[in-house]
Parts: sequence; structure tokens; C-alpha cells
Amino acid sequence: KARKRFGQNFLHDHGVIQRIIRSIHPKAGDRIVEIGPGQGALTELLLDDAGQLDVVELDRDLIPTLKLRFGLNPEFRIHEGDALKFDFSSLRKEDEMLRLVGNLPYNISTPLIFHLLEFQGLIHDMYFMLQKEVVERLAAQPGEKHYGRLGIMAQYYCKIDNLFVVGPGCFKPAPKVDSAIVRLEPYKTIPYPADDVKLLERIVREAFQQRRKTMRNTLKKLISADELTELGIDPVSRPETVTLPEFVSIANYLHKKAADKR
Ligand code: SAM
Repeated sequence: KARKRFGQNFLHDHGVIQRIIRSIHPKAGDRIVEIGPGQGALTELLLDDAGQLDVVELDRDLIPTLKLRFGLNPEFRIHEGDALKFDFSSLRKEDEMLRLVGNLPYNISTPLIFHLLEFQGLIHDMYFMLQKEVVERLAAQPGEKHYGRLGIMAQYYCKIDNLFVVGPGCFKPAPKVDSAIVRLEPYKTIPYPADDVKLLERIVREAFQQRRKTMRNTLKKLISADELTELGIDPVSRPETVTLPEFVSIANYLHKKAADKR
């Protein structure tokens, strides 16, 4: 009785569950947060090893099962609600870092990752099961097919590793597509910091709105071909070949230009 509306595909392959837990390697003292625990396939093993476990689950019909299975454990807390609106900073005690885990509902994975990136300063690492294609987009490098806005903004904040593929048969019901496990590890110090991250986001969004166009054309409202050349970026190159440091250099150049005008 999995519910499509909540993106429910429950893990039932024990080998895969073990492999995910081994990658996460939960330890005593860890503060783990699981998004979408469902019927508790990962929850059980996380709770065996971790210090404390908070779960965020939207489907209220699953809450009694979770309470029954794990409710007696004083280290376990259920938060009924939408992870997209959840304030993850409310879970932090003192300066503990959070470890996030989830076999995520695929229909909300991209907005959820953008929401979580807002909390990057309090997250030690994140392990997510996502549609394989989304993992490829997160990890994509310039020139690769899936390179674009999601990967660039995630890589701005995090080191990203595409860990392994999980086939549809490992879930009930089986999804139509392959899945994969990804690890995102927020940098303690952002390697290519932008003076204005919102401006960087806007530039990347505009650049990829038409990925076939050249940089000078997609960004013509913001920056001239001469200015791109001055930054060392070929104005007739396509956005899919432009690196994160190059996008950051555009953002910082435009930020400074606007500040100089004021
Ligand atoms: N972790 C379980 C497993 O591996 O078997 C369930 C995974 S299932 C793909 C996704 C889970 O996320 C479901 O339990 C679903 O009810 C829950 N969910 C869906 N939308 C959510 C949201 N916005 N916030 C929190 N949980 C959500």
C-alpha cells in the first residue's frame, strides 16, 4: 500500500540496505537525521549504530508504525512534516554537525537539495538515494552530458561522490528508473567563494536556460563579449563547458562593477 503521491518506493533488498549503511558508517555520538524513513528499512540499522536519530516523515499514516518499531528508544525522535519546509537548524545542539540520510522521494529531490544547501554550515555529510540521472547531474563535470545548474550549485558548496547504482528490483514497488547513492560533503571553506551567491545562482540559471547558445548570447543582458574575454572566458563557448570557478569569476566581476557604480 505504498503511496505514489509521497514518492514511496520502499527498500527491501537486504544486501543494498547493508551496503548503504556501510557507506554511511554511523558511529556512536553521530547525530543522524533521516528524511522519509517510510517503514524503517534504513532507520533500524542507523539506530543500531548511531548516537541519536531524528526522522522527518510527511505521511502521517506511517507514524504509528515508526512509533511502534522504534518509539521506546530514547535516542529516537519523530518529526511529522514536510522536509522541504523543515528547519534543520532546529535539530542542532551546541556545535554538533548533522549527518543527513535518505532514500528520497524522487519528485522532490531537486528542490530538497536546494533547501538543504541553505543549511550547509551545520551539515557534516549527506547520503541520498536518488534517481540515477539526478546523481549524474549532481556529479557532472564541464563538457559532460548532465552538466548544468544543479551540479554547479551543489558543487559550489559540496564535494560530491557518485557511490553506486541501485536497480529497480531492490524496491517495492519497483520504480521505472535506476537509482544511485550519492554522498555530498559540504566544504568547511568554500573553495571558490562568490561575493553574492544569489547573483551566482542567477547567472548560472540564465546561462543554462538555453544550453545551445553561446555564453555571450545567453548572458548578453548581464555582461559583454569583451568583458567575458577579459575574464579569460571565450564568449563563443557554450555554458556546458564553463567551469564553476569561471562562473564565480563572472559573478564577482559583476558584483564589483555594481558596487563601483554606487
Ligand atoms: N526510507 C524508506 C525506505 O528506504 O524504504 C522509504 C523511502 S520512500 C522512497 C520516500 C519516503 O519519504 C516515504 O516514506 C514518504 O512518505 C516520505 N516523504 C515523501 N515526501 C516527503 C516530504 N516532503 N518530507 C518528508 N518525507 C517525505
